[in-house]
Formats: sequence, structure tokens, C-alpha cells
Amino acid sequence: MIKVSSKRPRRLFRSISVIGVLFLLGVGGTVLATRRQDQPTASAAYLRSVQAFVAKSGEQPDSHDKYKTVAQLDAQGKEEIKSRASFPKLVRGDPKIKEVALTIDDGPYPGFVERLLKILKDADVKATFFDVGRKADQYPELIKMEAADGHEIANHTYSHLTLPSMPRPNLDPELRYGAEALQKAGNLPKLPDIFRPRGGAYDAAVVKAAEANQFTLALWNDNPGDASGKLLAADIERIILRDLSPGAIILIHEGVEETMKALPHTLQVIKERGYKFVTCSEMAARPGCIKVGGPNTWKTGDHGH
Ligand SMILES: [Zn+2]
Repeated sequence: MIKVSSKRPRRLFRSISVIGVLFLLGVGGTVLATRRQDQPTASAAYLRSVQAFVAKSGEQPDSHDKYKTVAQLDAQGKEEIKSRASFPKLVRGDPKIKEVALTIDDGPYPGFVERLLKILKDADVKATFFDVGRKADQYPELIKMEAADGHEIANHTYSHLTLPSMPRPNLDPELRYGAEALQKAGNLPKLPDIFRPRGGAYDAAVVKAAEANQFTLALWNDNPGDASGKLLAADIERIILRDLSPGAIILIHEGVEETMKALPHTLQVIKERGYKFVTCSEMAARPGCIKVGGPNTWKTGDHGH
């Protein structure tokens, strides 16, 4: 009797424990699942449509941008101006003002943001981070760190895919979800309204989507080409400094070790040459900023304006 009675409560206890653990696992799982489901800024239906596009096109949203050659970009910008099909966008700051914008694309990359912020703080430079919305959903704390240090958070689309190749209905959500994800991740007071398409690739429909959202399309005119992953730090520094001019918009990428190596000295030289660093918003607010042409159209000071 004693044995039986002592066994029964133990069994009962064991059963209750098992049920308890299962219950906790269930609740925990539900919470986790809810969090995971809540996390993406983009709707589930939209994410499915992006997945379908990625599968069909073979595009790789996680790789760095592929850029047209300088000659191709030059020709594109000149053709745009010649055909008067030029759309307003930020192509270069005011060429009469000795200021530059440092723009950093494709983040946030864990392990890079922290080190970049230290380099920028040491150099007393405020940069513009063109971050990817989907990655901001994954690493919101990194966006918060960038914003806390006073850098500008700008929109590099939600999925980081080449916009002109996407179905037209994707353009508006790509821009809007991108900005919303960044605002949510960084707790930003307003929706980021500076936007850069992947690879600088845009067409009339992309510009229209940007205008409908009141976003300013921002390009660059000083691209050392670090996205290829083939350049050494010395080359990255040399090209940035070679193409430096008043109103220059410098384009570099997160996730590139050689860029990290090049940055401290490059920033120092730019400052020694008497340039002031501004964000893209500050640059775009200058009445004399250049709004026509494509990426790299105004590559050096001697292009005039
Ligand atoms: Zn990119």
C-alpha cells in the first residue's frame, strides 16, 4: 500500500511535469513563432511574390551590387540629359561648396557596423547608410546604433533586387516597405526619404514610384568599385581621392574588409584637403545641388555643371 501510494504521487508529479514542460514549450514556441511572424515589415503575400521573382530571375539579393561600367553610366547620364528625359534626383551636391557625402551601401552587416561606427566616430564624420529593409528587420539593433551616432539612415529598398527588372507592382512596396522597416528598426522620428536603387538602376517607373512616395532618388559620382571585392585598400583610397570634388557623393559598401582598411586614412586626407562631410539630406537641401544625369555623370570637378 505504502509503495503504491508513494508511487502514484510520483507518477502524477511526473505526468504534471511532462505536461508542464510541453505546455511551456508550446507557449514559448507560439511566442517565438508570433515574433518571427511579426518581424518582417513586408506582408507575407509580398514576401512570397519576391521569393517567386528571385527563383525565376536568379537574382541574388544578398550579394553586392553589380554596376554598369563607368563608360556605360557616363553614356546613360549624357543620353538622359540630351533626350531631356532626365528625372530629378540627387546626383551631386553643390559643386561650389567644398563638402562631400560619404554613403555606405548594403548594410546592416553584423560585425561591420560596430567597427564602421568606431572609425566614423574617431574621424568625426557623419555618413549616410543606405540600408536594406529586409536586413533591418533582422538586425534592428544595428540600425539603432547608426541612428544613435547621428548618421543618416537612408533606404536601399526592402529586398535589394534590381528594380527595373522587377514586376511593376513590386516597385511601390519595395520603396515603401524599405523605408518603413528602417523607421521601425531605428525608432526614427520620420520615414527615411532618401532612397537609392540597387546598382543605381532606375527607369521612368522607378522614378515615378519614388516621386509618389516623396522620396529623393540619390546616386553618386565617386565610386571606387569596392563592391567587386577585388580591390586592395590602397586602390580604394586612390580612386576615392582621385575623383574627389566639391559636392562629391562617395559610394562604398559594407562587408568589404579592404574598404574598412582604407577608410581611416582616406577620411583623414579628405578632411586635410578642406572638405566638410555632410549627409545626403543636407546635400539635397542645397539649392545648387545637381539633379540631372545618371550615376558618375559628374565624376570629377572638370565636368562643369
Ligand atoms: Zn546595394
